[in-house]
Amino acid sequence: MPQVIAGNWKMNGLAAGAEALAGAVRSGADGLSCRLVLCPPFTLLAPVATVLAGSGIGLGGQDCHPEPAGAHTGDISAPMLADVGASHVILGHSERRQDHGESDALVRAKTAAALAAGLVPIVCVGESGAQRQAGAAEEVVGGQLGASLPDGFAGLIAYEPVWAIGTGLTPTAAEIAAMHDFLRNRLVGRFGVGGREIAILYGGSVKPANAGAILALDEVGGALVGGACLQAADFLAIAAAAR
Ligand code: PEP
Repeated sequence: MPQVIAGNWKMNGLAAGAEALAGAVRSGADGLSCRLVLCPPFTLLAPVATVLAGSGIGLGGQDCHPEPAGAHTGDISAPMLADVGASHVILGHSERRQDHGESDALVRAKTAAALAAGLVPIVCVGESGAQRQAGAAEEVVGGQLGASLPDGFAGLIAYEPVWAIGTGLTPTAAEIAAMHDFLRNRLVGRFGVGGREIAILYGGSVKPANAGAILALDEVGGALVGGACLQAADFLAIAAAAR
């Protein structure tokens, strides 16, 4: 299975710059062995979809509502994402969990909605620095994983230690490998053979300088990239390190 390199643009970008960034990624993507996914903010999904049309590069939202439609001012549903051309959606990102109080139960409902709309969910889990220092990383991340995934889940997981996001800090290769092995065992325990097909991405300060070492790890199925995805050259350099 090719690795997946997904770029989370977060709340960044206006139309002109977005088209240029997506266009530069598209131009530089020839010959890569991995699968690319760009996740711009909602306002840029349509123009980025136009730039990416026919390229094979995936398009993702950064959130969706659990309901397909209704009186939910300011929200976007999974069918709306699919309608604008999205193939993926990031769910349960730590910034959503922190800034919007998203619970595992809500992430699970959103994930079910994404699957019903035919989207590939990218479900994020990760411990805080304090939780890791307290020796509770596996307990926290295992709990999030179990409670955030609906039965019949098929999609991607992103292991994103909260303390590594946007900080320039990363776990050691051994720590990443250990957590990915732990998550793999949990997935296989719950989903049986299907659990082997769920790729586990790593996210948290992935940069061109560290991508090779992280992406070389067996259980790392790709990367969810924040800051470094806003420069096409950096994002493509990370993608070039993928298999
Ligand atoms: C993220 O927020 O998903 C992320 C991984 O950010 P960064 O690469 O900037 O740490």
